[in-house]
Order: sequence, then C-alpha cells, then structure tokens
Amino acid sequence: MRILIKNASIVHSNTNFVMHIGIENGSIQSINSSVPDEKFDRVIDAEGKFVFPGGVDPHVHFDLPTPAGSSVDDFKSGSVAALIGGTTSILDFVTPRRGQSMVEALEIRLKEAQGSFVDYSLHVSPVEWRDSTESEIKACVDAGFPSFKVYMAYRSNIGLNNEVLFKVLTTVAKYGGMVTVHAEMGDEIDLLRDQFLAEGKSEPLYHLLSRPPGTESEAVRQVIDLAHIAECPLYIVHVSSEESLIHIAAAQDRGQVVFAETCPHYLLLNDTKYNGSFSQVAPYVISPPLRKVSDNEALWIALKQGVVQTVGTDHCPFNLSQKMAGEFDFRKIPNGAGGVEHRLTLLYSYGIQQELITKQQFIDVTSSNAAQIFGCWPQKGSITVGADADLVIWDSQKKNTIQVATHKSTSDTEMFEGFETLGAPEFVIKGGRIVVEKGDLILGNLQKGKILRRDIKS
Ligand SMILES: [Zn+2]
Repeated sequence: MRILIKNASIVHSNTNFVMHIGIENGSIQSINSSVPDEKFDRVIDAEGKFVFPGGVDPHVHFDLPTPAGSSVDDFKSGSVAALIGGTTSILDFVTPRRGQSMVEALEIRLKEAQGSFVDYSLHVSPVEWRDSTESEIKACVDAGFPSFKVYMAYRSNIGLNNEVLFKVLTTVAKYGGMVTVHAEMGDEIDLLRDQFLAEGKSEPLYHLLSRPPGTESEAVRQVIDLAHIAECPLYIVHVSSEESLIHIAAAQDRGQVVFAETCPHYLLLNDTKYNGSFSQVAPYVISPPLRKVSDNEALWIALKQGVVQTVGTDHCPFNLSQKMAGEFDFRKIPNGAGGVEHRLTLLYSYGIQQELITKQQFIDVTSSNAAQIFGCWPQKGSITVGADADLVIWDSQKKNTIQVATHKSTSDTEMFEGFETLGAPEFVIKGGRIVVEKGDLILGNLQKGKILRRDIKS
C-alpha cells in the first residue's frame, strides 16, 4: 500500500516545514516540498495538522505477574491503548525468577510479547549475581537487548544490594550496554513500611509516607556514584522528586552519561490523591508515590532544560479488585497504574499548550530521545527517508476528556479521570498501515509488531 500524506507540518528545530510524505512497504520513501507526480493508493490531506514521529514509550509493563494477579493490560490490549494514543513502539521488561537464566526468561518473554500490535523491545533484569550472570549479560547484548533494568527497591525478590549492583554496572559497561535503574532505598522503605503496619497504620496513605523523597534521591545519588566508578551509562526511570533532579543535573554537569525519565503522573498529579477512602486512593498506589506540586514544577523545568530526556508511562494498571488485596495492609496493594494511551495528549495539552515545553521538545521526550538512547534511531523517532513509517497526524484542536468509561485500557481505574485534553491523534500510521483514522481504531489494519533489536554502542 502506497500512502501520501499531503501538506504535513513537520516540526524541526521549532520551525514548521510543510512537506509531502510518501510511504511504501512500511517505510518513509520520500519527503518532498512539492507533491510527487506518482500514483498512491491513499492520499491523506494533513493541511493544518502536525505530523509527529510515532511515540516511543520506553517503560511499560504489559501482563506483569504479581501476587495480586497480572497487570490487566496484556500485549494486545496494552498495544491497542498505545496505538490509539499515538505510541507505535514500546519497551517492556524481562524479569527472571531468582535461579532462572536471563536468556531463558528473555525467550519466554519474547513469546508473550508476540501479541503486540506495536513494535517492541525489552529491558532485561539481573535480579541476583550468579556464576553465569556475566555470560548472560553478554548474550543479551549480542542478541540486541543491551539495556538492563535493576531495582534498588523490592529487595526481597528482585532488588539488588549495592555490591551486586556494582558488579552489574561494571559488567554491562564492559559489553557496551546501559543500566536502567529503579532508584529507591529498598531496605529503609521496608523498615518504614513494617513499622507503620506494626503501629496499626494500614491505609494506603502509608504507602506515601513510607517512601519519602529522600528514599528516592539517596538511591539516585548512590547509583550515580557507582555508575561513575564503573563507567557505565545510566538511565534513571520514573524520576519523581526535585531532590533527585539535583543529583542528576550535577552528574550531567560533570560529563557523566546519566539520562532521566519521568512520567505524566509525576508532572501532573500530586500527593493530595492519597487523602480519601481506600477505593479513591488505591489507584494512585505507585512507586515512587506522587509528590508535591513543587516537584511537578521542578520536573517540567527539568524537561525544558534537558535534564530529563524522556517521558515514559510505567504503564502497569490493575483493577480495583486487585488493589483490594491490600485493603487491610497497604504493603499488599499491587503497585502500578495505566498511562500509555494518554502520554502524548497529556504532554501536548499540559506541556505545549501551557508553554512549558516546545513542540520540538514534545517530539524529543515522547519519541526521538528514547529511540536514540536505547538504540533504535533513526528507524524509530524520526521523520526521515528510510525510517519506519510510524507517524501520527495530530489534530491540535481536538478536545477530549479522559474517562475510565472510554479509555482503551482494560483497567477499571484511571489516574487521569476527568482531565480535559486539547490535541489528539487523528491518524496513526504504524509500519505503513493506517491503524487509527479519525481517532478510531481500524481493526482490520492491525498487524503484529516487530521485535526491535538494538545496539547502543556508539
Ligand atoms: Zn516500571
């Protein structure tokens, strides 16, 4: 199928160029300032509309197993939610059991991911140090999965102590990979959690109070220093607090390779969500927890200044019935919430429209930077000849209200319930096929996503 997008406004360095984009065999074949004199099967006139590269969400957990059951969006429903919101590639995770090989866990996870309608890759988690860990890390890098995710929290099952963390950083650096890190002080948080419960403080509010910002920023400081010694590129996921940003900016200033990600909820929601009944509060039980308005503001500034390079979603929604597992013990509430569907429209509405970021920055933080950092650029995250034809035709006048009743996620909770948005995908083109038209999914055009094998050595 050959598609021509006529009169596309392409943003480049904050200037708009009106161009005509020809698509064939799943990739961008031509970008011309005059309409090509060729035959196309479909011509879309994008006059007055922006065309953005398809979103790349570097942080989702589809079908994540937990003691309260799996996160409710699997690779099918999660990728449909992604597409309707303009995200055409995702990075999910491989979390082996202790005792299981990362390579074996990667193969199993790749099979689970086959249901995806967006292109996908995986970050692999070392959850312990074994004799074979070094060779497993090398095998993952060689197979095109060079980014590893370590947890400093959740010490009882997947979290690492600093000794193992340092070994992982050193080894990943040796083979040309990158470490991504969930930075929270696991032992201290566990102590606080147990202490609150022992005092009979079991409500979800204590999820917030057992994870004060210092438990994040101290972990951020430690992992930055360890990565500096190990000379390992570092990417800090879901940064939520102003204190953490101070350490990140200082490391970047001294020339260390440290990237940072935040999420829409850390930009737009705050800790007042933890006041209320269990069912009101539980949907916001995520780690790190929501912070203060001053943290929201600091994160927007960090995005604008380039201290934070990406906005991922940490999409990991649960139904309220699953959250009820922690009705009498906040420690048992599965941590997570959705977001993959609304990332672009929230950033556009509350970032660009409020003039907190520019259109170029919107493209960078929702797509191009993640593609570059994780080694799938310019195939993803760019509008250039030869790139994959993953494109979003954006209607900047389209108004919506986010509602659990209408979102595509299968979750029965929605953190952004009632948020009004301005700007939405009118068309989404994935691999050269129109998968969203006039905001509606074109089911017949969906096809299975590709595995993105990546290389970040450069
Ligand atoms: Zn996560």
